[in-house]
Amino acid sequence: RRDGTLQVLVIPFAGKQRMVLSRDVSQLERLENVRRDFVANVSHEMRTPLTVVGGFLETLIDGLDDFSREDVIHFLTLASEQSTRMQRLIEELLTLSALETGAPAQIDDEPVDAVGLVREVAAEAELLSAGRHTLSLVVEGEAALLGSRKELHSAFSNLASNAVRYTPAGGHIEIGWRAGLECGEYWVRDDGIGIDPAHIPRLTERFYRVDRGRSRETGGTGLGLAIVKHIVTRHQGELVIDSELGKGSRFAMRFPAPRLRMQRP
Ligand code: ADP
Repeated sequence: RRDGTLQVLVIPFAGKQRMVLSRDVSQLERLENVRRDFVANVSHEMRTPLTVVGGFLETLIDGLDDFSREDVIHFLTLASEQSTRMQRLIEELLTLSALETGAPAQIDDEPVDAVGLVREVAAEAELLSAGRHTLSLVVEGEAALLGSRKELHSAFSNLASNAVRYTPAGGHIEIGWRAGLECGEYWVRDDGIGIDPAHIPRLTERFYRVDRGRSRETGGTGLGLAIVKHIVTRHQGELVIDSELGKGSRFAMRFPAPRLRMQRP
């Protein structure tokens, strides 16, 4: 092929005959590019906080006597924040890699009390918001959701914490659960910064962020939605994203009826 993605090998075989082997290398190349990008991204994400920590430590070593106790505490606090950031990055990378290598069958299918879980996630979001937003909770339909409580908790709280992080103070966040005969849906709606539709198809890629600076400022790693997507897929569900720039977003995880055990019709 002109783009060089078809490799043809001609091997002499039994006298005049030739054996022709060809393979499409475009898929291999794509995988290799994904792998290379991933390593570059991880290295970059790790290098930034490490440079900050290293810089603070060197400054302190060079001039410890020149700094007041308050200055030293200030430096150490900033360095400690960076180390928390690296820890979170590594934890999320490990979560992602466990999700990617684990077959769906490996989910322990326990009946998870969906309403209880949603209430727990809403309480956590309330703490994270620390009074900066008004939060409301909508619950319709008690149901047990079959799946891994740990994974579902991680996905639900990821969406809730994103709403808190991408909604300016004074905004409103709604966290909800609805279970019906057709499906069960968990959603988080906010009236925050919103997302240009052009970005939506790429949001679940590892390290994809609309605004890198803003994500960093709020402690983001760019891995949250990649994790959510894996978890919802492992539970045979889908992630539905609706958003409008400057108006707000709605992220929903929809689970099919076979994943639900209705407790009250
Ligand atoms: P991050 O750690 O950067 O938040 P995520 O994978 O959770 O990573 O999200 C990817 C990107 O999607 C974010 O960087 C942000 O640009 C966008 N995003 C996610 N949730 C929201 C939201 N509720 N409102 C606006 N933008 C969002």
